[in-house]
Amino acid sequence: MTIAIIGAGLGGLALARVLHVNGIEAVVYERESSRAARGQGGMLDIHSGTGQRALREAGLIDQFHAIARGEGQDMRLLEPDGTLLWQEDTPDDAPLARPEVDRADLRGMLLDSLPDGTVRWGRAFASAEDGMVRFADGSSAPYDLLVGADGAESRVRALLTDARPAHTGQNIVELGIPDIDRTHPDLAAMVGRGNYWVLGDGQSLGAQRNGDGRVRVYASFHPTPADWFATSGIPFDDPAAARERLLELFSGWHAKFRALIAACDDTVQPRPLTTLPVGLTWPSKPGITLLGDAAHLMPPVGQGANMALLDGALLALALASHPDDFSAAVKDYETEMFERSAKVGQMSARMQEMVTAPDAARRMLAFFQPG
Ligand SMILES: Cc1cc2nc3c(=O)[nH]c(=O)nc-3n(C[C@H](O)[C@H](O)[C@H](O)COP(=O)(O)OP(=O)(O)OC[C@H]3O[C@@H](n4cnc5c(N)ncnc54)[C@H](O)[C@@H]3O)c2cc1C
Repeated sequence: MTIAIIGAGLGGLALARVLHVNGIEAVVYERESSRAARGQGGMLDIHSGTGQRALREAGLIDQFHAIARGEGQDMRLLEPDGTLLWQEDTPDDAPLARPEVDRADLRGMLLDSLPDGTVRWGRAFASAEDGMVRFADGSSAPYDLLVGADGAESRVRALLTDARPAHTGQNIVELGIPDIDRTHPDLAAMVGRGNYWVLGDGQSLGAQRNGDGRVRVYASFHPTPADWFATSGIPFDDPAAARERLLELFSGWHAKFRALIAACDDTVQPRPLTTLPVGLTWPSKPGITLLGDAAHLMPPVGQGANMALLDGALLALALASHPDDFSAAVKDYETEMFERSAKVGQMSARMQEMVTAPDAARRMLAFFQPG
């Protein structure tokens, strides 16, 4: 029986790894030309009950602890006038409940754990029919089970459902300050070792320290329409002018937050936020399924990578317990995954509503400090 996984993201790799640990080999087809072809983005917090559970099934939890940053759990919450509302510093001996890890390190760990040749690079999924998957370069490969682990803009998804991601009303600009300890020690001290959030009315600024000394900065605008970037006046092809425009958009904010924007380098990326409908399901179809963002794209409030890892691990365990009946395995997996992702999707939607509300900072404070 041949298992073809489309996408070497966290979910697809977790599936391949847990299958391997259980004596089942699979092939992962990835459209990127190599593991280094594209930057992998910032930090992810990996939770003990979900993402870490998957890494335990993968036999990689000790390796994960070696690359995880417990101090990345630190949190500071502020208002646009500079008022510090909440600060949490992680003690050195705190349990690793949701440590941060660099996405590239986590993906690298999963890639290194697979036998050579498991991942076929440069294979972009184009279509699938009658047990054959076809790639954009004209090549093809057989499958008995096809797993769409191809992320938010999944092409495999269309084989199971007409659902498509819809814009959430939030648009984010990603920026960053390289080597912050050396280049801007004052800003490094301000942001601290973990997450730094400034929540305002219709706008927010987030900053997050990465393992390589870079601080990623996220400027969010909400509610804004899907075509907002075209009308925002932010010239993405001219980073210096884009920073100037962002400084204008944050003109009423405390000087220390504007300094954060001014210190950024020339990475200025527009990131419109989209999600799939919460509670999305489809009638189970023998031979095809989805996992991770392809199945349940959620707002980025800290659950997506955890769900993708756990989906991969649980699908692998279902396949290992029904090695001669992929249909039964897929049904068992989908039943659990639909229920779990609906619950987590509702929770994420509530969190997303809170962080984009006009009084977001006070609402977040009440969340951290109930009663
Ligand atoms: C700014 C931001 C911050 C986030 N922070 C967090 C966080 O702190 N915690 C958390 O849990 N989640 C976070 N998330 C969400 C998380 O990144 C995703 O939910 C997670 O990466 C989904 O994993 P995946 O394996 O489903 O998809 P992906 O990681 O997107 O991987 C999909 C893979 O499929 C490949 N692919 C796509 N199309 C094709 C094709 N046609 N053929 C072959 N290959 C293809 C892609 O190249 C990619 O390698 C964040 C998301 C964003 C945008």
